[in-house]
Amino acid sequence: MNIILMGPPGAGKGTQAAKLVSEYGLAHISTGDIFRKALKEQTKYGVIAKYFIQFGYLVPDDYTIGMVREYLREHEFPNGFILDGFPRTIIQARELESIGKEFGFKIDAVLNLDVDLDILATRLSGRRTCRNCGATYHIEFNPPKTQDVCDKCGGELYQRADESEEAVKVRLETYNKQTRPLVDYYTMTGDITNINGDQSMEDVFSDIKARLEAM
Ligand code: ADP
Ligand code: AMP
Repeated sequence: MNIILMGPPGAGKGTQAAKLVSEYGLAHISTGDIFRKALKEQTKYGVIAKYFIQFGYLVPDDYTIGMVREYLREHEFPNGFILDGFPRTIIQARELESIGKEFGFKIDAVLNLDVDLDILATRLSGRRTCRNCGATYHIEFNPPKTQDVCDKCGGELYQRADESEEAVKVRLETYNKQTRPLVDYYTMTGDITNINGDQSMEDVFSDIKARLEAM
């Protein structure tokens, strides 16, 4: 089963992807995580992406698509995958279709986490991420047992550099301009399921499971 998980920044894609990984053994492919790893390791994609990520802009399509293509070629997904944060533009969505034909996979479900834009800034400013394993928390909605320490691996929790007020504003504007049109694109070209992301994490997950189990 291959899934695209869409939604604005802070909608809960990473949170729900982690639950899908443990429930169905799917691989979690987050282009944001891949870029951040590349940035840390200063690979060519990291060097290119740094400026765009820092200010909240999308990394240009050519690089992003090149990186995803390389990632899909180099990894195996015996139980399928969840794409989190890709595609983010219509060009990326079209390219994903050609990569699917070339590599022999298809997308089984497109899930869109629908969350009121007003609450996203609160979700993003309170998010804390583990430097070691990438697990995410929220200082109010999902706090770790010990402040700034990851429950899962004991790693240090940090606040992402692109979570400054200014960068969050740009990211939300970028989403509205470049990514929101994808909801219409998938509505026209096939099938998309809107999931109410403005509920508890558990309720969002049970709506997702109900959708997947009805397939
Ligand atoms: P995305 O991957 O879509 O950017 P995350 O999954 O990282 O979003 O969630 C953003 C922040 O909001 C995190 O701090 C997370 O703990 C919190 N969060 C996620 N889902 C919910 C929810 N249903 N209710 C409240 N907070 C949530
Ligand atoms: P995320 O972790 O999904 O919030 O992504 C963090 C940042 O990585 C984004 O703000 C973009 O700068 C970049 N990024 C992630 N995925 C993509 C994508 N599909 N296209 C372009 N840029 C991306």
